[in-house]
Amino acid sequence: MLKYLGVIGFPLKRSLSPAFQQAALDHLRLDVVYEAWPTPDDGLETRMKTVRSPRVIGANVTIPHKEAVMRMVDEVDETAARVGAANTIVNREGRLFGYNTDVSGLTRALAEDGGFESAGKRVVVAGAGGAARAAVAGLLEAGAVSVTVINRTLSRANRLVEDLRPYADQTELRALPETYASWAAVMGVCDLLLNCTSAGSAAFDSESPVPFELIRSGMLVGDLIYDPAETVLMTEARKRGALVLGGLPMLVYQGAASFELWMGRKAPVDVMFEAARSAVEAGAAKGVK
Ligand code: NAP
Repeated sequence: MLKYLGVIGFPLKRSLSPAFQQAALDHLRLDVVYEAWPTPDDGLETRMKTVRSPRVIGANVTIPHKEAVMRMVDEVDETAARVGAANTIVNREGRLFGYNTDVSGLTRALAEDGGFESAGKRVVVAGAGGAARAAVAGLLEAGAVSVTVINRTLSRANRLVEDLRPYADQTELRALPETYASWAAVMGVCDLLLNCTSAGSAAFDSESPVPFELIRSGMLVGDLIYDPAETVLMTEARKRGALVLGGLPMLVYQGAASFELWMGRKAPVDVMFEAARSAVEAGAAKGVK
């Protein structure tokens, strides 16, 4: 019987998951189709009912539903509970299990592609949405010595910090408003700046909130945005001698971890990378928004 996987989000115009997940399924000759399932807020309950069908193996979940699906699954794993968001659903005989693979995806990308060991390091996280929550959870788990969250909406950054404070035993965790004084106070001493805002992505016409002149040579600048593959923040960081990590490795690793939860076998990561890169290039060439 042909089986299905899909990504649930809205509007989903630039999701790369169908391209690289299907490439992995085809590479392993699995009789599974991975689809885009655009789902507005008022369609989420119905969509989740269809995920319980015997023909559906599971799903990825993306903006804006990662938090809402937590209430619609039967069980959540410890990481998803800590972050307060799930990006992966597994259907086990009609029972839905929620996982968060963004955390392990980022940790793996920092280590394998950024050459960055978070233990004992000082980190600045820009943004306080779902991606920032996963990033901060991973950095706390890895033993960063300090994590400062800077966000345009300070109340959201404060909420993130309070929610994750119970897991910050070894880490100084704080929120600051998105002002020049905040950036100036932290950029001089941080080892890693992680952009977890959507500013600078192809889907939004907005510029990075980071003052580029404060980027220092030798620090690592990570941008979670994967489309475009090279953001203005990454280009400006390179100009100033910083090390740079884009969002594609995290995207592929979180997807590989989802694949392994669904299929119970190792994901072909190289195949997924190649397909994801081609999909970004094809989207950029078409100017898709
Ligand atoms: P989200 O929950 O919608 O949060 C968006 C964040 O960006 C908020 O902190 C928001 O600030 C901030 N922001 C948006 N526009 C801004 C602007 N013009 N200036 C300053 N701050 C701005 O989204 P998310 O799920 O966290 O995702 C954020 C980004 O990470 C997206 O581009 C997404 O594609 C990317 N991402 C990548 C991966 C990966 O695997 N590489 C995984 C997850 C997410 P306010 O709170 O003030 O609105």
